[in-house]
Amino acid sequence: MNSTLEKRRKVLSSSLSLSYTKPLHIVRGSGQYLYDKNGVKYLDGINNIQHVGHAHPRISTAAYKQLQILNTNTRYLDQHVIDYAERLIKKLPRKLSVCFFTNSGSESNDLALRLARTYTQSSDIIVLEGAYHGHTESLINVSPYKYKGPGGFTPPKYVHEIPMPDIRKGFYNGSGAEKRYLKILSTEIDHITSQGKKPIFMFESFMGCGGQLPLPRQFLKRGHKLIKKSYGISIADEVQTGFGRLGNHFWAFDFFDIKPDIITLGKSMGNGFPLSAVITTKEIASRFDNGMEYFNSFGGNPVSSVVGNTVLKIIADEGLQENAKDVGQYLKRQLLELKLKNPIFGDVRGEGLFLGIEIVDLEQDKTPHPILANYIVNKMRDKSILLSVDGPKKNIIKIKPPLPFNRENADFLIENFYKVLLSL
Ligand code: PMP
Repeated sequence: MNSTLEKRRKVLSSSLSLSYTKPLHIVRGSGQYLYDKNGVKYLDGINNIQHVGHAHPRISTAAYKQLQILNTNTRYLDQHVIDYAERLIKKLPRKLSVCFFTNSGSESNDLALRLARTYTQSSDIIVLEGAYHGHTESLINVSPYKYKGPGGFTPPKYVHEIPMPDIRKGFYNGSGAEKRYLKILSTEIDHITSQGKKPIFMFESFMGCGGQLPLPRQFLKRGHKLIKKSYGISIADEVQTGFGRLGNHFWAFDFFDIKPDIITLGKSMGNGFPLSAVITTKEIASRFDNGMEYFNSFGGNPVSSVVGNTVLKIIADEGLQENAKDVGQYLKRQLLELKLKNPIFGDVRGEGLFLGIEIVDLEQDKTPHPILANYIVNKMRDKSILLSVDGPKKNIIKIKPPLPFNRENADFLIENFYKVLLSL
């Protein structure tokens, strides 16, 4: 047996999974490519953390330089964290103007819950079936993706889960489905307010682990209005979708013309460096300032801030949002053509470089086919293309590569999809 695998099994928890039937030993990355220990080059179609590309030299240089000068906590005055906060805020609606820096998406969402609970004086939270918001206890409790899955449990009473608003294959389908999902949300809001409480609504505008699913436009737009009308708080989880990945807009919530009260960021924010944030309004932030200090040993330190700033500069300098839009549209068009020729692809969805392909069983009335999805992803891995599978039924192939992913990469991906599908 592979000795690295054996050693890993000895020292790391077995609850930590490995990708692919034949696990990969990756030793190097560059741009949108990864290299294994035998020098085999893989096209990375899945790593949305290394947003501006693996081992980007501007990031390693910036971090190295700052590490040689100073890395301390945010209890000292420091220009880097201020520059970074200013640069981030410029990208957001005016009301989102106060930053809290953290070190992972989970930490951000946990803090967002605290902010919302302090503001509303209520814990009642509405979440979407299939949603994942992080791995801490507070977040597993609000992540149906986890508490309904293997090893799951009944969530606390303050959690109000509503069906995933999938208008194609959800609890309600077809015409009128969107309105029915909205009605469920509205009923849940009424239920919470009838007890004299204010609702917290936590959502991803485009669900990631939920299967690369954009929320229906009116569901989110009107639902958000209802939350505001009931003096509730909305938390937009942008951990997977932020920073230009979706092409047309920098943030996923912008597709819906809404202004959330709190947004949470992570993953791509530091291009792999542990860096994340919560950004909220002055009003919510000042209510949180109730005497209990917010201190974070690492969050917003000078090295993190320099890295975060560099990521933002690279996105702008290299036109990565525009690239996500262009290549995303190009790739989606080809995937849709492939879908026409091969109905195993039940649906192709998403925006920019955040796409999902639903794999269905043609012999079983187009029901989800998780085994086939997993098979295809492993076959693609053998063709040196890295993808993964997710969604409530584990039948959605996810495509969310580093943003330098180009048209040539898209062609290569499609060519190999054709080959794999032909071989079935
Ligand atoms: N929110 C969403 C939408 C996520 O997808 C994830 C991670 N997959 C998290 C939060 C948690 O982020 P982290 O793993 O950095 O704690």
